Amino acid sequence: MPMTMSISKYSMGVGDRFGLEGVAQLRAFQAAKHRGVAITPVWNKSNREHSLIGTRPEDVRAEADAAVKSCQWRDAYFVDADHIGLATVDKFLASSDFFTIDVADSIGKSASDAAIAEYVADMQRFAGALRIPGVAEPVTVMAASLQAIAAKYLFAVEEAGRIYRHIAQAKGEGNFVTEVSFDEANTPQTPAELFFILAAAARQKIPVATVAPKFTGEFLKGIDYVGDSQRFAREFEEDLAVLAFARQTFGLPASLKLSIHSGSDKFSLYPIIHRAIKKADAGLHLKTAGTTWLEEVIGLAAAGGDGLAFVKALYREAYGRYEEMAKPYLTVISIHRTVLPTPAEVDSFSAQDYVQTLEHNQACKRFNIHFRQMVHISFRLAAEKQAQYLALLKSNRASIESHVTDNILKRHIGPLFLGTGG
Ligand SMILES: [Zn+2]
Repeated sequence: MPMTMSISKYSMGVGDRFGLEGVAQLRAFQAAKHRGVAITPVWNKSNREHSLIGTRPEDVRAEADAAVKSCQWRDAYFVDADHIGLATVDKFLASSDFFTIDVADSIGKSASDAAIAEYVADMQRFAGALRIPGVAEPVTVMAASLQAIAAKYLFAVEEAGRIYRHIAQAKGEGNFVTEVSFDEANTPQTPAELFFILAAAARQKIPVATVAPKFTGEFLKGIDYVGDSQRFAREFEEDLAVLAFARQTFGLPASLKLSIHSGSDKFSLYPIIHRAIKKADAGLHLKTAGTTWLEEVIGLAAAGGDGLAFVKALYREAYGRYEEMAKPYLTVISIHRTVLPTPAEVDSFSAQDYVQTLEHNQACKRFNIHFRQMVHISFRLAAEKQAQYLALLKSNRASIESHVTDNILKRHIGPLFLGTGG
């Protein structure tokens, strides 16, 4: 493996749709550091987000650099070209130093017969009962199972290799952090599949720093985990064991860790994940994005007046253009339209009603996960009224910034990395 820029044990991706909350986000990392836990901030934005809002990768770089300067942050930070492929990566090359190579769409495409045969032959050394320390049951590896894994994943990992080499050619090897993501695949990867995927990545000489598998269960936008959390816990611990074993076996970077593309707010999983990474002494990258946009909406609603009027009008628009808003997110939302409040109902909301309906607090009777998902996916409506929206963000700075910082620190960093409830 070539020497490469490495990322610290704990890191967290914070998206920021409109690029104004970098300072408020970074304050949460400073507070964590003050409590003795170092977490590297990563500003991530996908090509999809850029195209929906009309921002450019260099805007994220400018935001991150400005926040770091303003807060006098002296530790590492990164700018993540999130979910890129060969077709989209070029415009991120200059401004990013973290690349999330997304090859989910290549899963199931077939590598050449020769490549498959060579891979399967190489992996024969694991045939039989493969014991991975930390995985309860030995994995039974047969020629047929290796063939099946190769047929499903080998082309995708080769594609990751092609994208990695394309980036390395432009930036120079070792000058960026590489993530490989499969989280937008149709089916989860088992811990055994993850092991053989990492084997293939090592054969491609990709210095994988973080890997984002698709975990069991649903990771919907802005709401809690939907699925069997006991099963998640078991598989997550096994994935950690697989990573440790793969690092030794294949010479992958010592800092290799799991990346969770959370879709934000997987609060019921945070204590489980915290216990698992502590027990295994493992690192973690957690990616969030839309949660900061929702705090902007909450901050505006809480401010009342023009801010509240704007977010009410935004909801009315989103409600009327539901299909258009939902289209890019159909696999990651579950909105029951019959339980959405009507725009007329929302128009009658007080500031507190709006906040309580939107804010992720399951103890509150008003909280509506359908409303929250709907607002989550409707950020591009604010981009359509950008001048007005940005003016409101500026005139309500104090209210918004405290929501943004508190949300990242108390709801995410606290339970996940500090092991506190808030
Ligand atoms: Zn993702």
